Amino acid sequence: MPKDGATDNNLVSGEMIFKYLDKYANDNDLKRRIRFESWVSNIERCAQGWKLTVNGNTVLSRKLIIATGVTSIKNSPSFEVRSDSIPVIHSLDIASNVTKFSNDQAHHFVVVGAAKSAYDVVYHLCTLGKKVTWIIRPEGSGPMPIMPPDVLGMNTITLGSNRMTNYFSPSLMTTNSTLGAFFHRTMLGRGLTKLFWNFITGQAEKAAGFGKDGGWIEGLRPDVRDASSIGLITMSDFWSTLKKGDITILRDNVDYVDAAGATLRSDKTVAAQYMIYCTGWGDHFSFFSPEVKEELGIPQSGATMSQGYSAKSDSNWQARDQLADAVVARKLPLLAAGPKDFKKPDPNRVWTQRRWRLYNRCVPISTAKDDDRSLVILGQIHTTQTPTIAAIQSLWAVAYLLGEVDTPSEEAMAQEVAEWNAWTRKRYLGVGERYPYALFDWIPYLDRLLRDLGVNSQRKKGMFANFLEPHGPHDYTSVVEEYMMAQKEKKGKSSKSSMTSSVVNGQTTS
Ligand SMILES: Cc1cc2nc3c(=O)[nH]c(=O)nc-3n(C[C@H](O)[C@H](O)[C@H](O)COP(=O)(O)OP(=O)(O)OC[C@H]3O[C@@H](n4cnc5c(N)ncnc54)[C@H](O)[C@@H]3O)c2cc1C
Repeated sequence: MPKDGATDNNLVSGEMIFKYLDKYANDNDLKRRIRFESWVSNIERCAQGWKLTVNGNTVLSRKLIIATGVTSIKNSPSFEVRSDSIPVIHSLDIASNVTKFSNDQAHHFVVVGAAKSAYDVVYHLCTLGKKVTWIIRPEGSGPMPIMPPDVLGMNTITLGSNRMTNYFSPSLMTTNSTLGAFFHRTMLGRGLTKLFWNFITGQAEKAAGFGKDGGWIEGLRPDVRDASSIGLITMSDFWSTLKKGDITILRDNVDYVDAAGATLRSDKTVAAQYMIYCTGWGDHFSFFSPEVKEELGIPQSGATMSQGYSAKSDSNWQARDQLADAVVARKLPLLAAGPKDFKKPDPNRVWTQRRWRLYNRCVPISTAKDDDRSLVILGQIHTTQTPTIAAIQSLWAVAYLLGEVDTPSEEAMAQEVAEWNAWTRKRYLGVGERYPYALFDWIPYLDRLLRDLGVNSQRKKGMFANFLEPHGPHDYTSVVEEYMMAQKEKKGKSSKSSMTSSVVNGQTTS
């Protein structure tokens, strides 16, 4: 990526990403194919394939690739916003409001939420010298664990980007191998695995300054490890800025917001002049009706435990899910029990029961089983390597749409899906419940896609390099060419064998 637009301290800026994508679109002649300023409000099936409503007009398509991300639709506030309320904005609207609230009279801000966007907003408000009351609900996933930019002198993302680290992550994608069995089904291996994760946690805690001198920052100690994903800081003054800031953390819920500020469930009113809610994202598949979502295996937005298996869903799923839980327990004993929280659950905790039924995280089983190759859904898997995953997953998806990769039987796809869900829900807890999570497991996921494509998944020279060296986008740059070559060879072989068989037939008949 060109450095044009990088910050003074060499960080990747939004401007840099924009310039990169803009150049990519120009270099590959994409712009004339894009309809800018267009919003898809409805998608339904039709005789040709799919019917889309785009800015009120109809567009028909034989094939449909959904790549609408997960961060375009705001989560609506769960509290009442009264007509005389102080300004209430979502973290998505920070950029458009920042000049306004940097300069105006607002001094005291309420920030709601405890994931990465909340940390970023609080950091920014501290740099502006604002006072922050930070509301974190007691029954949610709690404060997100935040990793330092470097561990052992190595960039943290790089540290997590080799097969060795991926083996430390208890995963169904690696557990069938000798090393997977060692790390997760022997006492010594499990001990080493725990040691590794305790070390990583220790590094994160040290960077944050938790401990006896932690003071108020202790309020940001994660409740349950991994329950709320993981954030990575890039600003070296992140924790020091927070520590110097005027911040009060309250574990409470907001009941309503009005002219006086935010009134909490505990009846306390926080007399703030601004509220920023960083409560994540809403229904980014709202263009599908509930029925289409059900059919495609996309969970209904916000579905909770009480709804469980919906009336229409195949009762086979319940049996498959139970079987899959047993597989995870057998193959990954570290995950079998789950954290303490699973054994003695908080009665107030709301567990979602969102079941994704997408084979390989992008193909609905309901369409694939009938060889209906008209739809793929990209970008739902959450990893630490979004760009690389996006590139390889897109290639796999296009090959699938063109009928160039095979999918297994319906039952095999269902088993893969059930086992993935059972695993990710125990491995990544709160976020694994809601999304297809594979934060530290992305190399084996790519290995699987590359194998399907007939492309070598071992991208380095030699066994040790493939195991120990960090992987990144640079290792996968030639994958499209390699795939095209593999296809050419495959087609060459099949046309040769059909020529051979017609000659043989010819000889037989003569
Ligand atoms: C604040 C923030 C910080 C992040 N930091 C990092 C980071 O440091 N590293 C990292 O790897 N990832 C980061 N991510 C995640 C990363 O941005 C996403 O993983 C990535 O952008 C996903 O790409 P995507 O193309 O799948 O979706 P998006 O980038 O979300 O693109 C989706 C596109 O679809 C459009 N769209 C959505 N719905 C519709 C509709 N109905 N009709 C028409 N168009 C629609 C949207 O306008 C958008 O253009 C961050 C995300 C956020 C919000």
